[in-house]
Amino acid sequence: MVLMDVDGTLTDGTLAVLPNGEEVKLYNVRDGMGVMLAQLAGLKLGIITGKNSRGLEKRAERLKITELHQGVIDKKLVFDDILKRYQLKPEEVAYIGDDLGDLEVMKSVGLAAAVGDAHRLIKKHAHHVCKKDGGRGAFREFIEFIIGAQKKWDVIMSGFKNILNRKL
Ligand SMILES: [Mg+2]
Repeated sequence: MVLMDVDGTLTDGTLAVLPNGEEVKLYNVRDGMGVMLAQLAGLKLGIITGKNSRGLEKRAERLKITELHQGVIDKKLVFDDILKRYQLKPEEVAYIGDDLGDLEVMKSVGLAAAVGDAHRLIKKHAHHVCKKDGGRGAFREFIEFIIGAQKKWDVIMSGFKNILNRKL
C-alpha cells in the first residue's frame, strides 16, 4: 500500500484562496497517471492530509482513491487504523511526504519517500529522496521507483494496452 500527503507532496504547496474563503489547489496530471499505474500494479492507495478540501474529494473520486482522510491532526493514528483494517504490517506500506507532520508515519513505514523540496528532516528520514519536487511529478517518480523495484512494468504495460483498446 502507498500512502501520501497532499499539500507540498501532490501540490507544490501553493493555495489559492477565493473571496468566498474556499481554497483551490493545483494537481499534476503526471501524478494522476502515477495513480493509475500504481493501481494497475495492484498497489492500494491512500491519502492522509491535515487540510480539508472539496476539490481533493473530487480528485480522489476521479482517481478512485477511496482511502481518503482529510482534516487529520495526528497522521500516525490514521496510519495505525489503516494497518488494522487492511491487516498490513508497517513494512508493507510506503509513504511519501514533504513536511514535519509526515515524520512519525515515515519513521514507521517500510519505505519512506521525501519529495525533492521536502524539509531537511524529512529528507534525512527518507529511504528515497525524489529528484522531482512536490506537485512537479515527485509522486509519479516514487510510484515508478516502486514499480521498477517490484519488476511490474510488463504487467502494467499489458494492462495499459487493454485500457487503451477499450477506449478506441
Ligand atoms: Mg505536506
